[in-house]
Amino acid sequence: MTTTSTAAPTDTVATDTLDILVIGGGFSGLYALDQFRDRGYSVKVWDAAGDFGGIWWWNCYPGARTDSTGQVYQFSHKDLWKEYNFTELFPGHEGVRDYISFVGEKLDLRKDISFNTTATEAAWDEASKTWTVTDSEGNTQRAKNVIVATGFGAKPLYPDLPGLDTFAGEVYHTARWPQEGVDMTGKKVVVLGTGSSGIQVVQEAAKVAKEVTVLQRTPNLALPMRQRQLTPHDNDELRHDLPERFKIRSRAFAGFDFDFVPMNAVDLSEHERELMYERMWEAGGFELWLGNFQDILLDDAANRTFYDFWRSKVHERVSDPVKAEILAPKEPPHPFGVKRPSLEQDYFDVFNQDNVNVVDYNKHPIIEVTPEGIRTTAGLHEADLFVLATGFDSNRGGIMAIDITGVDGAKLEEKWEHRVHTNFGLTSNGFPNMIFLYGPQSPAGFCNGPTSAEEQGKIVVDFLEHLKEHGYTRFENTRESEVAWTDHLDEIFEASMFPKAKSWYWGANVPGKPRQMLNYCGGLGSYFGQWDADKDAGYRNYQFS
Ligand code: NAP
Repeated sequence: MTTTSTAAPTDTVATDTLDILVIGGGFSGLYALDQFRDRGYSVKVWDAAGDFGGIWWWNCYPGARTDSTGQVYQFSHKDLWKEYNFTELFPGHEGVRDYISFVGEKLDLRKDISFNTTATEAAWDEASKTWTVTDSEGNTQRAKNVIVATGFGAKPLYPDLPGLDTFAGEVYHTARWPQEGVDMTGKKVVVLGTGSSGIQVVQEAAKVAKEVTVLQRTPNLALPMRQRQLTPHDNDELRHDLPERFKIRSRAFAGFDFDFVPMNAVDLSEHERELMYERMWEAGGFELWLGNFQDILLDDAANRTFYDFWRSKVHERVSDPVKAEILAPKEPPHPFGVKRPSLEQDYFDVFNQDNVNVVDYNKHPIIEVTPEGIRTTAGLHEADLFVLATGFDSNRGGIMAIDITGVDGAKLEEKWEHRVHTNFGLTSNGFPNMIFLYGPQSPAGFCNGPTSAEEQGKIVVDFLEHLKEHGYTRFENTRESEVAWTDHLDEIFEASMFPKAKSWYWGANVPGKPRQMLNYCGGLGSYFGQWDADKDAGYRNYQFS
């Protein structure tokens, strides 16, 4: 028997078999809901979060904010961008949640979303060509197609620390931060991890906490954000050329409204190069990463010129040479930009405060957590609050947390245990009529979220429309296509500088996770160009019936 979820709005009419059930109500899930519903499909969304916000509902730690400007971190469709005013250039989690709620209300999405609904199982039935999806309360929903849009960061990574359960203070993972907030005022705070989440928490903790101890395993080669508040007038100014910028972001390398500069750092004189770096540094933002010289992520010598420039900037700001050397060492921990840098506002400045310290975790790892604090080989760091900013089992973790059973009882978890195989990150052989958005082997890690939601969303809409036009009720990519796609990812990964940094891009952050590039790093132009070629050849990688 099919039931609606307990959390479904009461005005929702129960549909026996949906055309599409979307799991995940972030940018990708909401775009899919809106677009398919417009075309007459019956669609519902299940989302584990309590309300609109996607990943920003969960990651509500102090300082959580996007590294994209609101102008590019929004939808381009249905003129939504003409109306919404951002209050900050780089919106915080509250700002993004407010924006997504605005979209939800504007497009009347809420009535088709069940929040607080966690999909735990999905099982394919070949006879009826439908999926049955079950939530954590045991409710089920049948659907002809399932779109899994759980995002790259649905599964937090918890470190295995001896004694953690004896800790007498509060301990929170940044991705499971209490919705009601945590007051850090006057507390002794220890932060483990210096990825984007870690450095954002540190910036805020430093302002109010009694003491902040940062346990840093890998320095974050963070770049200046150049945050500013925005008035409605500023929004109008920033809006005037947005349609053009949306067009650019749809095919720029990483889905932003800028791209690499078509010049090589190594072809310029040192003076010319420095002038360019200085100009970019003043402007700030991810242009320093993904709008830098075109050889910056390809050539060791070019990369080093930027690392040295970055390091000198950090050393100018941190007065204690010991701290400065830990934060920005003479020898790069890895080439710049092959591990995701973050944008920062005053991250490096806070280390000039007496209450903020940094511990080189490689020299002084954690021995144990005690009731009083965190003991490293440097001594006991007393703590009232221990922040685990330790990241995610990225890309595949959220999908594999669902027990997915495909053709002949095959389990996705088993299929992907040692190696993920997909066609374009969208589908996997043996799991018909299931589509992943922002999934493993897609450009996810190298793509501004809303750009991916729209651009991947469009190709998926076209694809299901193709099925409808031809009266097909089943699709499945060929095994050869996903082996070829996986080989292609491996090839560009091996030829790139990305293997030179242990990162979540290729599973290197999770103990025991197979090392495999899980994010397409060939750029959006190449990704969509290849998809279009296959589409023009009649979706040659798919079998339809
Ligand atoms: P992350 O980048 O994976 O960083 C995790 C940090 O924890 C790293 O410094 C890591 O050290 C450290 N760590 C993990 N396990 C550890 C252990 N057992 N012992 C010691 N240190 C440990 O995670 P994140 O900061 O949550 O960010 C993940 C991604 O989410 C980002 O790259 C970004 O794409 C996205 N994000 C974006 C924003 C934004 O837009 N501003 C904000 C937050 C997150 P190692 O580096 O040495 O492994």
